[in-house]
Amino acid sequence: MRILLLEDDPSLGSSLQSWLQLDGYAVDWLQRGDQAAAALATHDYQCVLLDRGLPGLDGDAVLAALRQRGALVPVIVITARDTLPDRVQGLDLGADDYLVKPFDLEELSARIRALLRREARQGSTELRHGAVVLDTAAKRVLLDGAPLALTAREFAVLRALMRRPGQILSRAQLEEALYGWGEEVESNTIEVHIYNLRKKLGSGFIATVRNQGYGLAAP
Ligand code: CA
Repeated sequence: MRILLLEDDPSLGSSLQSWLQLDGYAVDWLQRGDQAAAALATHDYQCVLLDRGLPGLDGDAVLAALRQRGALVPVIVITARDTLPDRVQGLDLGADDYLVKPFDLEELSARIRALLRREARQGSTELRHGAVVLDTAAKRVLLDGAPLALTAREFAVLRALMRRPGQILSRAQLEEALYGWGEEVESNTIEVHIYNLRKKLGSGFIATVRNQGYGLAAP
């Protein structure tokens, strides 16, 4: 799951990013509102955390532009402004939820999970391939109906592959699914995750295409 975090306060932004990464999300953190459109056009985010007071373009304008384009990505507004008119205005602009600073990080995690569950009810979050069922909202994988224990990163690699059955994904595309920007990636990271996934799912589940990358083998 990939989250876009728009927050100009360096210490808050940094602690939110670290917290959410521990929660298993890939987090892209930007500090200017006018950087949001390019990021949203490039990546498939499951959630946006949006500070209202941002340089470049304020959070309300970012949100208004997003909804005008018809983007449905869930947005949680985080703000120090907590008067009733502020909250009403934020929700009217198309926010899905609202958190007033300072807030508890556990509460933020719970709100994100609630939003993702709500999304999940509006459409199936189950990806199936052969004997494997992956639930993107519940972060659960079943093999032949039995729960399978995967690390957060193995889950992210498998989800990327199962979202695009029939396609070959390059190592760079799989790394992209794993990490936020600016993180160091060991050169053999993807190979290690693929190796472990094959041990858990059966060696034939993921195919290697020489010089191109990886894809799901025909079930
Ligand atoms: Ca701010």
